[in-house]
Amino acid sequence: MTEIGVLGPAGWPMEFFILLVFCGLVFGSFLNVCIYRIPLGKSVVSPRSACPSCGTAIAWYGNVPVLSWLVLRGRCAHCRAPISVRYPFVEALNAGLWVAVAIWFGPSITALLLLPFVSILLVLFFTDWDHHLLPDRLTFPLAIVGLIVAPFNPRLDFGYGILSEGGTGGRMLAALLGAVLGYGIFFTLAFVWKVFFDKDAMGGGDLKMMLGVGAFLGMGGVITTIFLASILGTVLALPFLLTGRWAMTRQLPFGCFLAPAALISAFTGIEALRWYLGIITYT
Ligand SMILES: [Zn+2]
Repeated sequence: MTEIGVLGPAGWPMEFFILLVFCGLVFGSFLNVCIYRIPLGKSVVSPRSACPSCGTAIAWYGNVPVLSWLVLRGRCAHCRAPISVRYPFVEALNAGLWVAVAIWFGPSITALLLLPFVSILLVLFFTDWDHHLLPDRLTFPLAIVGLIVAPFNPRLDFGYGILSEGGTGGRMLAALLGAVLGYGIFFTLAFVWKVFFDKDAMGGGDLKMMLGVGAFLGMGGVITTIFLASILGTVLALPFLLTGRWAMTRQLPFGCFLAPAALISAFTGIEALRWYLGIITYT
């Protein structure tokens, strides 16, 4: 690899980052299509993207990530209807997350495996935000891919190295246990809630999403994700609590907390949990 040229951050060749940002933006553009179409049950492959206002198909030069939106100043080239800043934002966010993964993990299998993981989390965040939906078309592939790549996934080492030291079988078991724990915790919570309050605490989507998070991050990752999601939830709920608008916090779907929490867990492993426990132990 050394003959390629200047080494960039974290040991990757500099050219790699240019390629990664480019691919991250283009894939981010596809994620926008997924966010928009999957909750509606539409195909993400065809037809081609069109302006939501006038229905004109978007030409290739109108579909360049971020740049097209900037050049057209956020309007459709045909009818001048405003196009949401969400589109370039999702593209830039995906590229940013991919670069963060590459820098954080360096040239490794982990970095490669986490690229699709963070992108699916990104889509889940926005489908839950827009429609209160965590579609099966996203959560099941997340779980299945997690289980398939388990033998190569060093992220499963976190928290209980003993299991993953068992080689391929150990890691597959670690992924399976993670998936079962993720699903199980939420199933139990939903069940208890139903029995005591006669209310549905959360949609089935949350359970299935945690199945995938568990398959990718293992049991340690599941626990860390749930801890971080509760912290995020508490922090974001505080202003509403203080102003007495408690009911508003119920409007926020739980997947919008789980997705960023799972993302942070993917980066930190159970270190985030240790840090949190350290704070509450020593203060
Ligand atoms: Zn238009």
